[in-house]
Amino acid sequence: MPIYEFRCPSCAEFRLSLPISAETSAPVRCPVCSERSPRVFRAPGVARTPTGLATARGPEEASRDQPQVVRRAATPHKGGERSPLRAKPHLPALPRP
Ligand SMILES: [Zn+2]
Repeated sequence: MPIYEFRCPSCAEFRLSLPISAETSAPVRCPVCSERSPRVFRAPGVARTPTGLATARGPEEASRDQPQVVRRAATPHKGGERSPLRAKPHLPALPRP
């Protein structure tokens, strides 16, 4: 059940868990002093995705629907660094598209 916030004019704000089908725009009775308390409306907790995270997730989301097809093996890096393909000799034997 969702939680709604109400503000008692005599006490303080309080929260109530009410069923979705309940009338939540009408004031409710304060659980302490039984005074009619209107509901408190606040801005929704919407946060913006940080730029770095959005940049990193862009290619990931693009490859979800249209993944890139590898047509040839990756070229080894210059400078004597070993290619990941050499570390796994079974990879060149896999079928190519
Ligand atoms: Zn009260």
